[in-house]
Amino acid sequence: MIIRFLGTSAGNPHPRRMTSSTLIEGPNGALLLDAGEGCSQRLVEADSWSQEVRSVLITHRHADHHSGLPMLLSGYKGEGRKAPLEIHVHQDLMSPLRSWMKTLKLDDEHQSCELSWLPLQEGIFTPASGHDGFIWRNDHLPADDYGGCHSLALNLDGDRWVFSSDIGSFASIEAYLEDTRVLVLESCHIDPVTAVSGAMKRGVERVILTHVPCNLEPFPVEDAIWAQDNMIIDAASFPREGN
Ligand SMILES: [Zn+2]
Ligand SMILES: [Zn+2]
Repeated sequence: MIIRFLGTSAGNPHPRRMTSSTLIEGPNGALLLDAGEGCSQRLVEADSWSQEVRSVLITHRHADHHSGLPMLLSGYKGEGRKAPLEIHVHQDLMSPLRSWMKTLKLDDEHQSCELSWLPLQEGIFTPASGHDGFIWRNDHLPADDYGGCHSLALNLDGDRWVFSSDIGSFASIEAYLEDTRVLVLESCHIDPVTAVSGAMKRGVERVILTHVPCNLEPFPVEDAIWAQDNMIIDAASFPREGN
């Protein structure tokens, strides 16, 4: 399964990075994990524009995680996309997002494809892209803040990968790291050094750091690499312990 980092920046403009968005290949199409500004541009660059994205997951309400959604839907509308698309988002955030899309005439009524909005819930996550996943709410936002923020675990080529999204503390993902081989850690609101060290203690083999704060250039962190926009990783061959 190929993972492509489309946007690796946080909430402010960066000269070389778009905001948070990751394309994760699945058996029945790709899952777009968040749709930050510039994700459409990156999808075009990746030749993954129309055919691949089957499911979109929006983790929380902050603009750097969904501000690319209107252009994504505008592009699909413009090209007359036929393949169905589903958007997973917490119920409390779904209404305002759908209302925004309706204002732009980008909602389901104005799309050429079947567009489904599905309420994101904690627990087993089985999107149409065919992934086998699990979702939980983390501590980046309180639950009453448009449903809070969500982390995701996926089975990719037989290994457990955890995608943190924004977190307020390492503690809110720690209990979910058991048997996790790779952690993709959004590091904007935490100290990456402490978090990576905590992940290693829980048995995680590799950490990929992303969501770089705009005032911080990536610096060496032991046992971790920093993602860059358009970085591609093959989950099956991503370095294993000892490699
Ligand atoms: Zn963020
Ligand atoms: Zn956030």
